Amino acid sequence: MRMILLGPPGAGKGTQAKSISNKFSIPHISTGDIFRKNISEKTPLGIEAKKHIDKGHLVPDKLTIDIIKDRLNNEDCKNGFLLDGYPRTVNQGEALKALLEEDGNSLDIALLIKVPRKFILNRMTGRRVCLSCGASYHITFNPSKVEGKCDVCGCDLVQRADDTEDTVNERIDVYEAQTQPLIKYYDDKNLLSAVDGTLEINEVFESICGILESIKK
Ligand code: ADP
Ligand code: AMP
Repeated sequence: MRMILLGPPGAGKGTQAKSISNKFSIPHISTGDIFRKNISEKTPLGIEAKKHIDKGHLVPDKLTIDIIKDRLNNEDCKNGFLLDGYPRTVNQGEALKALLEEDGNSLDIALLIKVPRKFILNRMTGRRVCLSCGASYHITFNPSKVEGKCDVCGCDLVQRADDTEDTVNERIDVYEAQTQPLIKYYDDKNLLSAVDGTLEINEVFESICGILESIKK
């Protein structure tokens, strides 16, 4: 299965992606995680990406598209993948389509996690992440078993530098201006399905599984 997750920042894409990846045995690819790894390793890509991420802006398409091209070439993506946080512009969507077509492939589904703006600030300022494995928690809605430690790998949990109130508001504006057009883009191609992301985490996952089982390849 070749799928992408759409939705505003804080919709629950990363949270759901972990469970989808386990259940459907497809790699979870998060461009945000790739950037954060590069930032922590201070690579040239990380240094460039950080300038944009810290302001709540998108990393330029050229850089982002190259990363995805490189990652999707890996052997583990041959039978499917789950993209979380890519594409974020129509231009990135077109690049993905062209890339898949080179191998005679196409996307199976664009799954939108719908969450109104009023829920988002609370979710993101309470988010705690593991920079080692990418797991995402919430201090109230989804706490780790041991405070400050990742359930999966035991590493320290941190608050993301871009999860401050000002940056979150900027990121939602950027989402509405640059990423929301992808909803129509995929709807026009009959690839869009949507779930209510305001439900509890396990209820959102059940809705997603219902949709994915019906299109499973
Ligand atoms: P995204 O990857 O879309 O930015 P995350 O998966 O990191 O979002 O989720 C953002 C925050 O909201 C995290 O702290 C996460 O634990 C929490 N969260 C995710 N899904 C839900 C949900 N259905 N209800 C309440 N909180 C949620
Ligand atoms: P995320 O972890 O998905 O919330 O992404 C964190 C930040 O990384 C975003 O706010 C962007 O600055 C950057 N980013 C992640 N994915 C992309 C993308 N596909 N295009 C541009 N910037 C991205």
